[in-house]
Amino acid sequence: MATMKAAVVTEFKKPLQIQDVEIPKPKAHEVLVKMITSGVCHTDLHAAHGDWPVKPPLPIIPGHEGVGEVVEMGDEVTNLKLGDVVGVPWLHTACGHCEFCRTARETICHDQENSGYSVNGSFAEYAIMDAAYTITVPKELDPIYAAPLFCAGVTTYKALKVSGVKPGQWVSIVGIGGLGHVAIQYAKAMGMRVVAVTAPNDKLSSDLAHEMGADLVYSGPGEKMGEWIQNEIGGAHGAVITAVAKQPFNEALKSLKRGGRLVPVALPQGSMELPIFDTVLNATEVVGSIVGTRQDLYETLDIAAKAGIKPNVTVKKLDEINEIFDDMLAGQIKGRVVLQF
Ligand SMILES: [Zn+2]
Ligand SMILES: [Zn+2]
Repeated sequence: MATMKAAVVTEFKKPLQIQDVEIPKPKAHEVLVKMITSGVCHTDLHAAHGDWPVKPPLPIIPGHEGVGEVVEMGDEVTNLKLGDVVGVPWLHTACGHCEFCRTARETICHDQENSGYSVNGSFAEYAIMDAAYTITVPKELDPIYAAPLFCAGVTTYKALKVSGVKPGQWVSIVGIGGLGHVAIQYAKAMGMRVVAVTAPNDKLSSDLAHEMGADLVYSGPGEKMGEWIQNEIGGAHGAVITAVAKQPFNEALKSLKRGGRLVPVALPQGSMELPIFDTVLNATEVVGSIVGTRQDLYETLDIAAKAGIKPNVTVKKLDEINEIFDDMLAGQIKGRVVLQF
């Protein structure tokens, strides 16, 4: 049996194990992708810890920011060819025929599969993709910089679209990590003015926000964020929240202009407070946004190629995955870590 190296979750909240596992065979509608690189997302950490109500089946190989080459194809695949450089995004596949799939909202299909969560993902030398859900990488993009676009890029680009913020208007990007730093670049490419919000006194993230082109950066006390944004710019037209904590959700609501829209993206545990009086009087909108469709992903990559969007990456190896997770928990990562195979 031909084997590949993979990082495997065998038990929640325990270190991942580097194992030799069998190289999977693509079914008729699938392709086998030989991984070149994969980003490491906070969601992979949630998967490894079993943090969410729906837990992945174990053992599982995490990873949903893979970029690799198509090396084997099932008999029915017609939209790809051998040698194509493609991505392994969160949305591995969806049913294709429910109300949500029919209306180009496949990311909320009840019968979807997710890379690195319900099916094995990109923390391995090979991964399987459903050809119908596989998007090719524009040749202008280096795989190392393209990988984070398959989750961090598409998720924030989509959230910015959902925010409804128009060119010249203000969007706040709350949380400047793997997602937030890419969000700043997309917001600027889309003509928005950006106020970036980091964790209090977080110099690493504040420097990164400036480098990415934020117009304003707030690194003050969490409970003053709403008031500060109101005083500086009269409120934001939209807020995209990528911070993995509850408090920023409540503060971001207070930071909105009347008629503003809050777009939650990060997934901390618990609930946010939605004051009824203010929500009614200010006509506040709250709209969740989860990754992006195939079309969103196509646009994400196309804009990156044309506007020169480039995530801030640190290159590491697969067997460093447990140290990478430790750094992630300690807030020690500037931008994104990508694994090179
Ligand atoms: Zn992700
Ligand atoms: Zn569906």
